[in-house]
Amino acid sequence: MTDSKHAFDVIVVGGGNAALCAAITARRAGASVLVLECATKDFRAGNSRHTRDIRYMHRAATDFVTATYDEEEFWRDLLGVTGGATDERLARLTIRESETLGDWMPANGVRWQKPLRGTLHLMRSNLFMLGGGKAMMNAYYDTALKLGVEIAYETEVREVKMSDGEFAFALAIHNGGAKEYAAKTLVVASGGFEANIPWLKEYWGDAADNFIIRGTPHNQGRMLKELLRHGAKPVGDPRGCHAVALDARAPKFDGGIVTRLDSVPFGIVVNKDVKRFYDEGEDFWPKRYAIWGKLIAEQPGQIAYSIIDSEGLPHFMPSVFPPVEAGSIGALGAALAIDPAALSAVVDEYNRSVRHGRFDPGSLDECRTEGLDPPKSHWARPIETPPYYGYPLRPGITFTYLGVTVNERAQVIMQNDHPARNVFAAGEVMAGNILGRGYLAGFGLTIGSVFGRIAGREAARCAGF
Ligand SMILES: Cc1cc2nc3c(=O)[nH]c(=O)nc-3n(C[C@H](O)[C@H](O)[C@H](O)COP(=O)(O)OP(=O)(O)OC[C@H]3O[C@@H](n4cnc5c(N)ncnc54)[C@H](O)[C@@H]3O)c2cc1C
Repeated sequence: MTDSKHAFDVIVVGGGNAALCAAITARRAGASVLVLECATKDFRAGNSRHTRDIRYMHRAATDFVTATYDEEEFWRDLLGVTGGATDERLARLTIRESETLGDWMPANGVRWQKPLRGTLHLMRSNLFMLGGGKAMMNAYYDTALKLGVEIAYETEVREVKMSDGEFAFALAIHNGGAKEYAAKTLVVASGGFEANIPWLKEYWGDAADNFIIRGTPHNQGRMLKELLRHGAKPVGDPRGCHAVALDARAPKFDGGIVTRLDSVPFGIVVNKDVKRFYDEGEDFWPKRYAIWGKLIAEQPGQIAYSIIDSEGLPHFMPSVFPPVEAGSIGALGAALAIDPAALSAVVDEYNRSVRHGRFDPGSLDECRTEGLDPPKSHWARPIETPPYYGYPLRPGITFTYLGVTVNERAQVIMQNDHPARNVFAAGEVMAGNILGRGYLAGFGLTIGSVFGRIAGREAARCAGF
């Protein structure tokens, strides 16, 4: 154990985007910084290494975004997905501060690429990182090391010593032994608790056993639990999580982006009782994909099946696992181990209800159903061109919404509504302040980058810089 009090100015717990944005900013301000990351060096950077793009406000087109995306539009988009479950002050701060990310990120080693096209509809609002999140995080680690940030891998913080909102030291496990890490200030950037199945079961019951975790197994929520234990004020629905439709054949953890399936708008989805349960074409996929995990989680056995025909296949990103293929709908049902006759009946009923129009995946087109419950509002075309394809789907949990309340300085707010003096939070551990429900593609990184920088700046200031 170390007994060196205030050995560092700033300790950052976590090794993802929010943590590195905080560490780099605090170090640039002059503070000494230690990052405690529980993963190995090879698996560092949590869920951030799985990302591809970031949403940001901008006033002009560039080589990498096709047109403007201003504060009001960004805010309206956020209101739309959250249904108002957001703190407007913090949300607008995030949006405004995001404007500088287009320059700040390259200044710290990130490179952009031309936007991906197709069904994503993100070429106007989002910047895509060249090499994705892995390259972004490698760049941040290089920058941090060059600046003199110290990084301790395989160091899992188990406990935080705090009293009356004042942090003293962190107790971590490193090389099998317990170690104390003292600092003047603490930045918690350790993600959500999505990898902690027993914790998820408290809200979801046994259904959580059937969830697949898209990202790191390290996001166990230990720090979140510690902050709450010390009296931090919670924010966000404990049951709330960002969850997508994932290929049921994906690994339990860390499958990353490639196991997500974007086939839903181009066909129908049935549960294991062979019943449709939601409008597959309600809105553009980037505004809807994040509700599908929860929809599947509410189905019997937490499983569903995406059914398309060969006309649908070219319209979404190729899947990593090949679809189940059959020459008839009945044979497809049998191959997916669901009732073949019931599947044929559902597809027939759907086909009869389709009102033809001009099919356009790039707009909210006129191809819809009539008299079908639930309806399919756009991109509805008969499923009638063999071969037919099916994908088994499970809820794929991206991150959880429960977090700690923060103010505009990223200070953790305690239950007496006073800020903790020297404890700051950034990233998923506080994202529920801004994103109480729903999701906007690329906004996880926006929140983490903006609040990471604020937390780093304020932690350094609190430490005397
Ligand atoms: C497959 C996938 C794709 C995604 N794509 C995008 C995208 O394109 N754009 C976007 O904006 N968002 C995307 N997201 C969401 C995005 O990953 C998160 O919003 C963001 O990365 C969160 O950053 P963070 O720093 O808060 O957490 P993370 O990046 O998850 O980092 C948390 C870190 O904390 C460490 N840690 C946890 N507990 C402890 C502890 N007790 N002690 C020490 N260390 C600890 C972990 O090892 C990890 O390094 C995606 C997520 C997934 C899973």
